[in-house]
Amino acid sequence: MKTAQRVPVLMYHRIGEAHNPWEAKYCISPQRFEVHMQTLARAGKRAVVLSDFFTWLDGKSELPDGAFLLTFDDGFLGLHEHALPILDELGYAATVFLVSALTGQRDVWCRASNPSGATYPLLDSHHIQEMSRHDFAFQSHTRNHADLPTLDDGRLADELAGSKAELEDLLGKPVDYLAYPFGRYDERVLTGARTAGYRAAFSVQPGFNRRDIDRFRIRRLDIFGTDTPAMLARKLRFGSNDGSWRQALRYYGARLASRLGAGHG
Ligand SMILES: [Zn+2]
Repeated sequence: MKTAQRVPVLMYHRIGEAHNPWEAKYCISPQRFEVHMQTLARAGKRAVVLSDFFTWLDGKSELPDGAFLLTFDDGFLGLHEHALPILDELGYAATVFLVSALTGQRDVWCRASNPSGATYPLLDSHHIQEMSRHDFAFQSHTRNHADLPTLDDGRLADELAGSKAELEDLLGKPVDYLAYPFGRYDERVLTGARTAGYRAAFSVQPGFNRRDIDRFRIRRLDIFGTDTPAMLARKLRFGSNDGSWRQALRYYGARLASRLGAGHG
């Protein structure tokens, strides 16, 4: 068996209908999401369990070539209706980062960024418990989707440790991983996350993850609702958020240049 040397982590947000160009980026239609997953399955890719990803990172086990981690930020309600059946059928595992103080409510933090000001419903505790009996792992995205670097020390600790405690209460199991809201963190946030007891955290920095990746800066590829299956495939292949052909050509160009450079070495 060929084993994985690097594992990409895909990041999706909402599954449902988009009503403006901003939403079209951060929301994928159920139909397109299904095509994305089927494209990956046909290419031999496997969405692995979160704990297996970390065992692999720690060098304690191997993963097959084609392994990837599938993550959803924010915990939108549409995951229950649309992702659960598709992923169940493929035998794909997923990880959802929840905003623990807003379960069963709406994504009020998006009001400022969505031009229409619309908000959408989030999973409630009943959905979360049902999905955790399938192959869904639930981890932390803070209590209120806070912009962590802007908080004072007290509120930072509350958002990080409070979310971990609330989710552990709800799920009855350890919550060891964090995704930074808005992808924003600094050195103080990293220290705060360690102090709160997290073992690793996910950024929105694109790229692949090899075993030497900083555990508090795990990379993820941002998958948009506007990505065609071909663009998704290119993002995975090149470890980039840019799924265009231009990006692919730049990658091959750089490889060719380095090969020619080595020839002159
Ligand atoms: Zn988020």
